[in-house]
Amino acid sequence: MAHVAVVTGGSRGIGRAICERLKADGFTVVANYAGNDAAAEQLKADTGIPSYKFDVGDHEAVLAGCRQIEEEVGPIDVVVNNAGITRDGTLHRMTFDDWNEVMRINLGGCFNMAKACFPGMRERGWGRIVNIGSINGQAGQYGQVNYAAAKSGIHGFTKALAQEGAKFGVTCNAIAPGYIDTDMVAAVPDAVLEKIVAKIPVGRLGHADEIARGVSFLCSEDAGFITGSTMSINGGQHMY
Ligand code: NDP
Repeated sequence: MAHVAVVTGGSRGIGRAICERLKADGFTVVANYAGNDAAAEQLKADTGIPSYKFDVGDHEAVLAGCRQIEEEVGPIDVVVNNAGITRDGTLHRMTFDDWNEVMRINLGGCFNMAKACFPGMRERGWGRIVNIGSINGQAGQYGQVNYAAAKSGIHGFTKALAQEGAKFGVTCNAIAPGYIDTDMVAAVPDAVLEKIVAKIPVGRLGHADEIARGVSFLCSEDAGFITGSTMSINGGQHMY
């Protein structure tokens, strides 16, 4: 039977590309999203992939959402923690709410999904967890103390959980994307984006499918000896 893979924030952008790639790999794929019903319906219409709406930052909602997926689709063997938001601003403008929401969703979401799914993976002796970090969690970024801290936290979370999962056949890895052409990057002002692209050695933004291919590999049987690693996919912008 095909492994069930849940991709948080799977209805749009990088998450949607991951859903499509994992489906092509033979996984039974389920997407999660927060509120954009139109994008979720479009994913279903285009690919047949169903979506479950819950806030990954809400612990109880995640436990209930994952329980529902397991009842309706099957045991969750693969989790891709992709859901993420930005609330940018320099420290003197950033509110506590900006800080807290980014930590709650971007980092808390990984904890909540792991709490819901890791015990089952451990019991069944096989699992794959892939966390989407960021180049800005590795290198920092002006105006993003919240986002950089949350993404940097994801990289530490990944290495710690990898150690707990290793002897149970559960791998846990991270991908640190550089700048990828999605709605999130479309929100960056053109002048700022031009300066960013100028710093990318390959000379362009990345495509969502280029992240999805990395996820696909880390979820495969071939990647069973890779755990606790961070794969940087950034066009050479940051060599870590
Ligand atoms: P998008 O903004 O295009 O899509 C975000 C997705 O996350 C949507 O499906 C959205 O759902 C979902 N989401 C947001 N908040 C929640 C929540 N609380 N609960 C559940 N789902 C939620 O983002 P990208 O595709 O650009 O980014 C995907 C990931 O990659 C993020 O973690 C981001 O930080 C990371 N990343 C992106 C980079 C880039 O250049 N684009 C670079 C480095 C990292 P809905 O549609 O319902 O709002």
